[in-house]
Amino acid sequence: MPRFFLMFVFSAFFLFSCAISQPNAATPGAAASQTEFAPKPAEPGFDVTAIDRKVNPCDDFYAFACGGWIASNEIPADKSRWGRFDQLAESDLNKLHDILTAAAAGKSEPQDRFGDKVGDFFAACMDQEGTEKTGLADLKAEWTKIEAVKDPVSLSRAVGRLHGTGIGTLFNFFSVQDFKDSTQVIAGVFQGGLSLPDRDYYLKDDPKSAEIRKNFKTHLERMLTLSGVPKERAKHEAEADFEIEKTMAASQWTRTEMRSPERIYNPYDPAGLQKISAPFDWQAYLAEIGAPKVVKFSISTPKAMTQLGELIKKTPYETWRAYLRWRALDAMARARALPKAFVDERFSFQSKNFTGQKVIEPRWKHCTRMTDRLLGEALGQAFVRRWFAGDAKDKALQLIRNIQRAQERNLTTLAWMDEPTRQKALQKLAKINNKIGYPSKWRDYASLEVTRTSFLKSLLAAIAFETRRDLAKIGKPVDRGEWEMTPPTVNAYYNPLLNEMVFPAGILQPTFYTSGANDAVNYGAIGFVMGHELTHGFDDQGRKFDDAGNMRDWWSPSVGKEFEKRTTCVEDQFSGYVAVDDVKLNGKLTLGENIADLGGLKLSFSAYQDSRKGQPPEAPVEGFSADQQFFLAAAQVWCAKMRPEEARRRVVLDPHSPPKWRVDGPLSNLPGFAKAFNCKADDQMVRAKRCEVW
Ligand SMILES: [Zn+2]
Repeated sequence: MPRFFLMFVFSAFFLFSCAISQPNAATPGAAASQTEFAPKPAEPGFDVTAIDRKVNPCDDFYAFACGGWIASNEIPADKSRWGRFDQLAESDLNKLHDILTAAAAGKSEPQDRFGDKVGDFFAACMDQEGTEKTGLADLKAEWTKIEAVKDPVSLSRAVGRLHGTGIGTLFNFFSVQDFKDSTQVIAGVFQGGLSLPDRDYYLKDDPKSAEIRKNFKTHLERMLTLSGVPKERAKHEAEADFEIEKTMAASQWTRTEMRSPERIYNPYDPAGLQKISAPFDWQAYLAEIGAPKVVKFSISTPKAMTQLGELIKKTPYETWRAYLRWRALDAMARARALPKAFVDERFSFQSKNFTGQKVIEPRWKHCTRMTDRLLGEALGQAFVRRWFAGDAKDKALQLIRNIQRAQERNLTTLAWMDEPTRQKALQKLAKINNKIGYPSKWRDYASLEVTRTSFLKSLLAAIAFETRRDLAKIGKPVDRGEWEMTPPTVNAYYNPLLNEMVFPAGILQPTFYTSGANDAVNYGAIGFVMGHELTHGFDDQGRKFDDAGNMRDWWSPSVGKEFEKRTTCVEDQFSGYVAVDDVKLNGKLTLGENIADLGGLKLSFSAYQDSRKGQPPEAPVEGFSADQQFFLAAAQVWCAKMRPEEARRRVVLDPHSPPKWRVDGPLSNLPGFAKAFNCKADDQMVRAKRCEVW
């Protein structure tokens, strides 16, 4: 799903998702009637039982705030990670499942214009028996079309067809805002087409990577054998496919290199792109995928395009057909649109090498997630009506305003800024747009056709619908009303090209926002998220875009240098942390997120302090002062356990640091934290060399 790419590269508070339901706090009823007579005690808003009082908060605050939670929680068998964040996501999944079960039984609410469509899609996905019977035949019908590949034109056409239905091969293609003219939408070509989760797995020399490569080849061979390919041929095809992918991997930027917006913005006109990637045929490709007329492309990795041309010249078409067949097979197994034997084999490969998950997720969870992903703005309407609390939007706006004000005060006083840069930064801050809860205009699914008789066909239809919708934007002015996340999503993002922050309804619930809790707690949890997203506008990537979302250097050179010096401090700090076993964090990959965590906590704490001016301090809860509650709430968002395989995978892929370091890393830089817990200068949680960017 190409559009998710941008969120990934440019920040988004991109987190995990996952298992078992967690009852929401605040049960109205009894408590509500009491308020008429006596002031209601504040909801704690943080989890007292999660705390481990045996730990000194100045030694390891994460262990203090989350030790109790960690001791009393096990990772569910169908999860690779389990945390308080995941508990909320799991709770949302259950709510969506209720809506979907009713929709599938023809009982969606009359306001839900696409209720039947949503119900049909979910029902088709849930029909495991039907998938057993038709899945492989449906896949082979797709394969038949690949058999036509015999020259560059037919290859380019086949890739266009597959891309139209979301099957990633050779590269990714989708609409993007022009980095240098953010009002316009152009065509984006981004590196892609690999089966393993990162290019590094193909290229690194360490024993783990070598083992993964060996297991991958065996897995590929098994999948092909399952689909009826004779054993010897399957072995041969697995080798050939691996070699193609490895060559492509070598021509791609690393994940860290992809974080640089200047590096991945390479404008080309159609003739220029054709020239560097020939004999790939762009005309044939664009016609097949159904793109409108394209006059400008943005290419992430020109060297990968050149390598693609070279690969086409030297690879037999028999191998190309095998590669395309494999990529379709893999995508369908991943979507669980194939019989169980395929899905199980894929799960076993993934869990052994990347996740450590013990059992596969129940089908209903998978199908709920798929429906949310593909028909999210139809499904999300019912979710918002039922679950989005009335006061959450106003409260969120008020918090955001206070946090923006904190950043304004901060920018005004920062000693390392010069006046011209300060003015531009203030201007950018003032122009940030906030989206809260759900879109003001919902997506129209009228032209999408889904059927209950074949999940695979419905899935391809839904992705094709999404591709058409996305590509239709090329050549037009940007639509500023669009959302990149669905309303139930427990997440948030900052988009530098629109200079906007987005907070879906899913994150404006307890754990993050608790109605009736002390402000300290809400500033600590959702306020931290808001400060984090706001800081993304000024992190090492975000700072390269101006107030209108254009990539432009608006910094005085000396201030830019000072900024980089400050970010180096953060990079060094996090590079020193161990993620799992002997594997250290990648301080360069996680730099933007670490800057955002650090800035987010500082801004939110400052906004909280300011909001209390002239008032008595908020009431202590369970012996914790209001300031202490702020930091407890912030830390407890991250209470989590992770399987070692998952932790390793995240070091390679995840731009966020592991939970412990998202807490101890930034807090050990914050004087406000040390003061709240009376930590001394030589305590673990007080860094001698304090990093501060914003
Ligand atoms: Zn982030």
